[in-house]
Amino acid sequence: MTISYRLPQQRTLSTAVPGPRSTDLAARRSAAVAARVGSSAPVYAADADGGVIVDVDGNSLIDLGSGIAVTTVGASNAQVADAVAAQAARFTHTCFMVTPYEGYIEVAERLNRLTPGDHEKRTVLFNSGAEAVENAIKVARLATGRDAVVAFDHAYHGRTNLTMALTAKSMPYKHRFGPFAPEVYRMPMSYPYRDDLGTDGVAAAKRAITTMDKQIGGDEIAAIIIEPIQGEGGFIVPAPGFLTTLAEWARENGIVFIADEVQSGFARTGSWFASDHEGLVPDIVTTAKGIAGGMPLSAITGRAELLDAVHAGGLGGTYGGNPVACAAAVAAIDYMAAEDLPGRAAHIAEIAVPRLKALAEQIPAIGDVRGRGAMLAIELVDPQTGAPDAALTKAVTTAALAEGVILLSCGTFGNVIRLLPPLVIPDELLLDGLSVLESALRTAALAPAVTAS
Ligand SMILES: *Cc1c(COP(=O)(O)O)cnc(C)c1O
Repeated sequence: MTISYRLPQQRTLSTAVPGPRSTDLAARRSAAVAARVGSSAPVYAADADGGVIVDVDGNSLIDLGSGIAVTTVGASNAQVADAVAAQAARFTHTCFMVTPYEGYIEVAERLNRLTPGDHEKRTVLFNSGAEAVENAIKVARLATGRDAVVAFDHAYHGRTNLTMALTAKSMPYKHRFGPFAPEVYRMPMSYPYRDDLGTDGVAAAKRAITTMDKQIGGDEIAAIIIEPIQGEGGFIVPAPGFLTTLAEWARENGIVFIADEVQSGFARTGSWFASDHEGLVPDIVTTAKGIAGGMPLSAITGRAELLDAVHAGGLGGTYGGNPVACAAAVAAIDYMAAEDLPGRAAHIAEIAVPRLKALAEQIPAIGDVRGRGAMLAIELVDPQTGAPDAALTKAVTTAALAEGVILLSCGTFGNVIRLLPPLVIPDELLLDGLSVLESALRTAALAPAVTAS
């Protein structure tokens, strides 16, 4: 592996976490920034590289979140930084709808080549994941002439009006932000750990299909949208056969099948896209987070006949496919290929999964260990009842942060700890991060009096 680092790849704490400078910034922030924009780790970043984030107090923290699956190639990847600087020195914006440029085409070419399926494809670029999802639905509605859109339990698709409607969880994403977009229907997910149907993905798909058939009608559905591995909803990996059975039924009924790979895409799960693990070929794929080494960029990539069916000027936006973001994406995607980051994600799973499974044998509060590649999670429960334990989850992420490890939680019930390290994290640093997670879990889970408070 030829990955090189600018910052020492080690965890070092010189103050409490958060330290005094972070605490000062938190005070300034509360006078300037709306109170309810959350930050899960209240430490202010000064520098970041590889698997570390250095805070304003000089603490070097292990990053096991990648800013929510974004900094796959590292937060200051040299190739990405060079490409950004070179493009910014030439032009930062012309608007692709006014004066187009090559970088946009280069990103589209890569997406058309790397996304699942070898059919003729087209790509459109936007700024955020939510914007990509909105546009995928627009395309599906126009192409089918139908209104209904199906999403699933535990789904997360964004925070704009239509994507809030598609997102399952009310608090905090939707609570009192309605009314929501109409003609959105929610179907039961395959959730092997909590589902009656367990690992029978075909049966779980048939359950959803019967409901769609009876409650909506297959010939009235424009699109089925699903995350091949659910992100915010809890890193839920549907049982084998679930996705492919749904996609098959969608094809038979003229429904556009949209895979929302905003979180699971770009090498994260050990292949380019999570759809690849099951040979799933979606009609449209939405991408964002890992695409451009941290620069804001998103895309929809889909069958040429679907995307080319849209009327002239029907898709676009002022900033969509910004040239600096496109330069970053080309550099990031080429880096992922050159360094075989899909292989690196699989390697991370080989290191982490056995450790998490061994830990689950010792700590009954770990109800489930799941995920693929470097998109891994543990679900924490009350060992007696199996009820989700959000308090324990919070206790563990808080304790890990105090020891210098940034860990994210997720899940409909707030009881899942997710591991999303940058794929360039060195093995030793990952192992150190896992040790901190393990001792935080041991302390919190085996001392119930602490977690109950
Ligand atoms: C994060 C996410 C989105 C929304 O992306 P934004 O860039 O935050 O708008 C959509 N879908 C999935 C699966 C996501 O994880």
